[in-house]
Amino acid sequence: MKSKDLICENLSVGENGRLLFAGHDTELLAKKYGTPVYLLDEDRIRQRCRTYLQAMKKAFGCKGKVLYASKAASFKRIYEIMNEEGMGIDVVSSGEIYTVLRAGYPLQNAYFHSNNKTDEDVSFAMENGIGYFVVDNEEELFAIQTEAERRNINQKILLRITPGIDPHTYMAVSTGKVDSKFGSAIETGAAEKITRLSLEQKNISLMGFHCHVGSQVFDSEVYLRAADVMLSFIADIKAKTGYEAKELDLGGGYGVRYVSEQPVIDIAENILSVGDFIKEKCMSLGILLPYIALEPGRSIVADAGLTLYTVGSVKKIPGYKNYVSVDGGMTDNVRFAMYGSPYTILPALDMNLPREMRCSVVGRCCESGDIIQNNVPLPDSIKRGDILACLTTGAYHYSMASNYNRIPRPPIVMLSANGNYIAVKRETFEDLTHLEV
Ligand SMILES: *Cc1c(COP(=O)(O)O)cnc(C)c1O
Repeated sequence: MKSKDLICENLSVGENGRLLFAGHDTELLAKKYGTPVYLLDEDRIRQRCRTYLQAMKKAFGCKGKVLYASKAASFKRIYEIMNEEGMGIDVVSSGEIYTVLRAGYPLQNAYFHSNNKTDEDVSFAMENGIGYFVVDNEEELFAIQTEAERRNINQKILLRITPGIDPHTYMAVSTGKVDSKFGSAIETGAAEKITRLSLEQKNISLMGFHCHVGSQVFDSEVYLRAADVMLSFIADIKAKTGYEAKELDLGGGYGVRYVSEQPVIDIAENILSVGDFIKEKCMSLGILLPYIALEPGRSIVADAGLTLYTVGSVKKIPGYKNYVSVDGGMTDNVRFAMYGSPYTILPALDMNLPREMRCSVVGRCCESGDIIQNNVPLPDSIKRGDILACLTTGAYHYSMASNYNRIPRPPIVMLSANGNYIAVKRETFEDLTHLEV
């Protein structure tokens, strides 16, 4: 029987009980590359890109765009893959832009987000030919106008709008998410004001609007509500000013499975139903169908990732609690410490053993909160030297990694049908001091 913990199609168990990931033996990978190590299933990433691209094409024809929200996992190889797959991208800092350029990815296909772009960010992005700025606020709008005028260019932008939707209740709330640090709210009139201001700027082309309702969203109703609010906003602006948006970006946020209790989302089907809704809504509002963009981050890379650790100490405190320590921790996976996120952790060497012991899997940092997961079922015989696999670590792990306690960051190893290779090397001790004078 297939274990319920094999939560993604790229997981399986070999004849010897070994956990296989993307068809590769995890014990052999741990031996070859050392631990901790981030594994990334390249074929899965490509497959997810294609699912989005094909569904958006089916829903909107040439008016569908898919942008990979690259803050989920940002390194050169991933931008090369996105380029090969024909994906647009989101960036949120000059550091990401620099990485994009080093990867040879064409920056005109990039959208620059963030709620606070510095003057240096604006200048660096324009210098290198950024496609779009997604403008968060008025100060930023003026900074972009000033820089575009200085360079004597015309800069395309979208405006980030706060539609006032709480993704976890999918209600359009009257205050709630209006208090976000991101964007301009429709309800307060700020969205209309910044739209009018944008239209007055000589060196700015307002292409349309953007919103992003949240992350780890399982309910497609959220996107219908967001589309509803945003299209109505477009129609309202058209009626008041005559300006009709050409582009509407609905953000990212489709949920992925960290544990078996979470559902599998049929992204293609979701996109098609949002597509039908949008086309009908445009007709009934009397506006043209705009270009529609989605910005998936997590759902492109999350379940393509898996982290392997080696077990160190196993501490059983009778009547209280068991701890299994691994050779990584909050430095390579901060998501439990930060958000209390659930994870599935498996004994990679022998998946056939009964898992009767409950334990906290903890890291090696000097910090009690350095926990990867509580209440993990593992074999009672788990011991120093065994290998553990933490699933669904492709998004927001490497990109959030730190050197706390001077722990070097793990490498990223890419897996494909053709073999495996290093995309990012393991940090060395020398790397830890090389900026110090
Ligand atoms: C983070 C982010 C995304 C991606 O969200 P996921 O949950 O990773 O899909 C998309 N758009 C914006 C503006 C974001 O900030």
